[in-house]
Amino acid sequence: MKKIAITAYKCKQCGKLHYPFHDRCLQCKGREFDKVEPQGNVKLLTFTRIYNLPWGFDQRYLIIGVGEFENGVRAMGQIGVDEATPLQVGMTMIPSWEPVRVQNGENVFGLKLTPIT
Ligand SMILES: [Zn+2]
Repeated sequence: MKKIAITAYKCKQCGKLHYPFHDRCLQCKGREFDKVEPQGNVKLLTFTRIYNLPWGFDQRYLIIGVGEFENGVRAMGQIGVDEATPLQVGMTMIPSWEPVRVQNGENVFGLKLTPIT
């Protein structure tokens, strides 16, 4: 299994987590950050189904979710279920780093979320 290539940035002053990186803390305008790697499973915060996909996607639709890792890092990812699978905010998902689309003939890796069944 591939490592999840997400790095979040934790403000040294106030502790707010940022992902992706910002020059200055969105909360206190601090400029110093510690790097934080996401840990544990993911709690689904919100999700949406997208049916009109841009060029480069070979699937018919996509389910995109925002999840929160156990250490507070939030990230967006693809949810790997079929259309009929019911999804609920608050569900626990297993994160993985997988090819999420093909660009110029090469796999582009990204965050994938799979519900615990
Ligand atoms: Zn801050």
